[in-house]
Amino acid sequence: MTTRLSIAPLTEIFSDYFLSWRSRAACEPEDARLFYYDGHALPLADIAEAKQVCSRCPVVAECLDAADDFGIWGGLDAAERRRLDLR
Ligand code: SF4
Repeated sequence: MTTRLSIAPLTEIFSDYFLSWRSRAACEPEDARLFYYDGHALPLADIAEAKQVCSRCPVVAECLDAADDFGIWGGLDAAERRRLDLR
């Protein structure tokens, strides 16, 4: 008897993982514009406010893993992530 593996459970696991950490994020009820601003520089007041939210977030490591090149992720701006060799 041959057992066939399906990719579907893997995508469900990935989806569950992504949704599970995002659902625990401190920024979940916050305005996304505090963290991500159309690829342009965020206003300094928004950066400070976003970092304050991140400072009480339980999923900083997961957030840094998912970071892209713009905005505040894991309490760090893009330049700070580059200096730490993070995305
Ligand atoms: S670390 Fe900051 S940006 Fe990342 S999920 Fe937490 S609150 Fe949101």
